[in-house]
Amino acid sequence: MNIQNYINGNFHKPIQNNWIDNYNPSNGEVYGQIPNSNKDDVEKAYNAAKSAFKQWSQTTLEKRSRILIKISELLETNLQRFAEAESKDNGKPVSLAKAVDIPRAASNFRFFGNAITQFASESHESVGQQAINYTLRQPIGVVGCISPWNLPLYLFTWKIAPALAAGNCVVAKPSEVTPMTAYLLGKICNEAGLPKGVLNIVHGLGITTGQAIIEHPDIKAISFTGGTTTGSHIAKVAAPMFKKLSLELGGKNPNIIFGDCDYQDMLNTTVRSSFANQGQICLCGSRIFIEAPIYEKFKTDFVAKVKQLKVGHPSQTETNIGALVSKPHLEKVKEHIQIAKNENGTVLCGGNEITVEGFENGYYLEPTVIEVPSDECRVNQEEIFGPVVTIMPFHTEEEVLEMANKVKYGLSATLWTNNLKRTMRMSHQLQAGIVWVNTWMMRDLRTPFGGVKASGVGREGGFEALRFFTEAKNVCIKY
Ligand code: NDP
Repeated sequence: MNIQNYINGNFHKPIQNNWIDNYNPSNGEVYGQIPNSNKDDVEKAYNAAKSAFKQWSQTTLEKRSRILIKISELLETNLQRFAEAESKDNGKPVSLAKAVDIPRAASNFRFFGNAITQFASESHESVGQQAINYTLRQPIGVVGCISPWNLPLYLFTWKIAPALAAGNCVVAKPSEVTPMTAYLLGKICNEAGLPKGVLNIVHGLGITTGQAIIEHPDIKAISFTGGTTTGSHIAKVAAPMFKKLSLELGGKNPNIIFGDCDYQDMLNTTVRSSFANQGQICLCGSRIFIEAPIYEKFKTDFVAKVKQLKVGHPSQTETNIGALVSKPHLEKVKEHIQIAKNENGTVLCGGNEITVEGFENGYYLEPTVIEVPSDECRVNQEEIFGPVVTIMPFHTEEEVLEMANKVKYGLSATLWTNNLKRTMRMSHQLQAGIVWVNTWMMRDLRTPFGGVKASGVGREGGFEALRFFTEAKNVCIKY
């Protein structure tokens, strides 16, 4: 199936008629083509967005809210179709897309549809000076949203929904590897009555289409989720134009387990936080540190549980682990397993590519647990973004804090303990934008989301996102 750009409410072929193959990771076959849009396509999308801005930015909050909530409802109505499309593009189990990706995309539109009606700004009375200040929160204009392949529609809509709610018009690009649900979203937006040009979706490679968006002098803000290297490149391009940037980048998150935790709950959740979505979630706890007295028990129990995970075709209901997103990504993850072996890591389970009967050319890999001799080895420092975790013991709180913080990233951290004082001490000192205690990936969309250090700049979620997508203007009136 060929997909097209969604510009000004219509579907268009790329101007230069350049196309890219779209692969199904579960069987390695090309199943369609997508536009490789260039500067001219992006310009066309920008012009549509610019024309729509005046009216959209003046549309009442109630009406904007109603349209966003309608999009949310239509996503829910089309849950099965979207979940199957997401799975086919990404390799994730259909069951996961149905339980997590698509419902969350629907929630994003519903949440920001509601949030904009509650978004307020401040006023300050300058006492003794007979003046009052009030702050306007005005939409920026045309903004760019660029998202990765791991949670395709989930992360795409996490940016688009607040941008639209705040009154901006959008030029958006999903990952070229997983474009299908973004394409289907265009149809839903039309059905929901989103005015033409308010959202424009251009497909193509990062280095062509994405680059044209970030270089566009009149796209004044970029919300980007993806790798740290790409984020750094975007920052360099955007800086001379003083663009507003929100960058959600890579992670290498610690999962710290103390002996006093609720063991069974920790064990079950740790399997999930290690391997959900084939380990391709920026929040996965890929470095597991276990307090020494329970290390051997944890090692035995964890490995036994991981061995039970079923790797299989994404459409099969018993599948826990589907296919990795692409052949190059599979090769990158395998390379890291080899690096771990070279650095004296011990593969406790997994480590091999798997052939799934009937889908021999799919990109399947066993969930892999590696015992590492040091937290400084490469597999403990570099983001792998696949079904690979490392484990190692620790002896003291100070020691584990130092190891947890000794990476360039700082996205999230998970802590398992029932000791309140330790929880308070450690959550203050962990270098991360998000700390989960006795849980993982529990999300409340009102909370700030984002990382520190090489994991990004800025926060998404709740009013933080609405603040990002608006400019504050203070008006001071003397009376
Ligand atoms: P990439 O950085 O490769 O790509 C992300 C997006 O940017 C894609 O749409 C990509 O297009 C595009 N892109 C690439 N080059 C450019 C460019 N020069 N200008 C503009 N856009 C460009 O990341 P991945 O898609 O590989 O995603 C995995 C990464 O995302 C991991 O590092 C992961 O940690 C991170 N991530 C972070 C999250 C967070 O919230 N902090 C959440 C989820 C993932 P194309 O696909 O065509 O190359």
